Amino acid sequence: MRSVTVKTSATYEVLIGSGLLQKAGEAVKKVISPCKAAIVTDSTVVHLYEETVRKSLTEAGFSVCTFVFPAGEASKNIHTLSHLLEFLAKEEMTRTDMIVALGGGVAGDMAGVAAATYLRGIDFIQIPTTLLSQVDSSIGGKTGVDFIQYKNMIGAFHQPKLVYINVNTLKSLPEREYVSGMAEVIKHSLIKDQAYYCWIRDHKDQILSKDPDTMLEMIRKSCDIKRQVVEADPKEQGERALLNFGHTLGHAVETLMDFSLLHGECVAIGCRLALKISRNRGMISEKETEEICALFDAFSLDQRFDRLTPERIIETTKSDKKMAGGHIRFILLKRIGEACIDLTVSDEEMMEVLEEELR
Ligand code: NAD
Repeated sequence: MRSVTVKTSATYEVLIGSGLLQKAGEAVKKVISPCKAAIVTDSTVVHLYEETVRKSLTEAGFSVCTFVFPAGEASKNIHTLSHLLEFLAKEEMTRTDMIVALGGGVAGDMAGVAAATYLRGIDFIQIPTTLLSQVDSSIGGKTGVDFIQYKNMIGAFHQPKLVYINVNTLKSLPEREYVSGMAEVIKHSLIKDQAYYCWIRDHKDQILSKDPDTMLEMIRKSCDIKRQVVEADPKEQGERALLNFGHTLGHAVETLMDFSLLHGECVAIGCRLALKISRNRGMISEKETEEICALFDAFSLDQRFDRLTPERIIETTKSDKKMAGGHIRFILLKRIGEACIDLTVSDEEMMEVLEEELR
């Protein structure tokens, strides 16, 4: 078992191991006294892991109920959230009860908003089951649901009491979802840690074959990078925005493709574009840009988005909530392992790299 301790407004552990779900109840009991626990999970994960988690929580003294929503990003909205809040009310959940987010980033983000808002805030824990949620979304307390065409527009910062990661859950994860999570892993290395970038490049075969020790090390390392960034800037007033590397154009593509591409796939698209803007500004070399793009390719993160025009993509970035004082808050790469916030990226610069990528 490996662990990372996150210290923000609250201190909590991220526990990382294999074969842990049967022991979830005992681990939760160490941070939350037995109470009523509402598991929030999706229509896929419920058949895979809900029974084990329910049994373990029940054995530890928790009384358990479960809310299930249809799997996928399309469920991450205020309608599902409203059903979830109604469910919590009908179950007569009180302020001393808790929510267990069991699933990927969608379950975690939505359960998190419910935990942040129901009765002005109740405890929640995260049991993430996708690579993306294990290395990124379950840590740091950002919760949210999509609203109109905006990603994560409604939400709050609300830290979990525990993040409980069982890497074995990745064995049932479809390959496309697994490699999509690699976009966030590669992003972590690019913005913060050159040595980690080299480690990912040198271990890509073990990562692709889901070698257990490699996965444990990779997830621990990514969780630790997320921890550092979140601790330095818990409410995204500065450095935490670096985690949005690849997200400005990535979110625009994700929205315009009507969520037919996965979140991580769009982050990879956005990272490539942001890289090329950085290259065009002379911040990183052509060789480094090619090498990084080849790493995304190695994980099949090379999705096409040809049916979109550069004009529509640029237009969509304008409504992005990351607009700061009329400027888009773009994240660029100074070098591998160091990113910076830039408010001056012009439409022309975006157009140039979009035309290159869509060629
Ligand atoms: P997801 O939750 O939709 O999960 C992807 C798919 O995998 C779903 O169909 C799910 O049912 C299935 N699944 C989950 N675990 C499984 C398992 N172990 N075996 C088999 N199938 C499994 O998507 P995601 O990629 O985990 O998360 C994407 C979401 O995370 C987006 O909404 C994004 O905005 C959000 N996000 C949030 C943050 C944050 O800081 N809060 C950070 C990054 C991303």
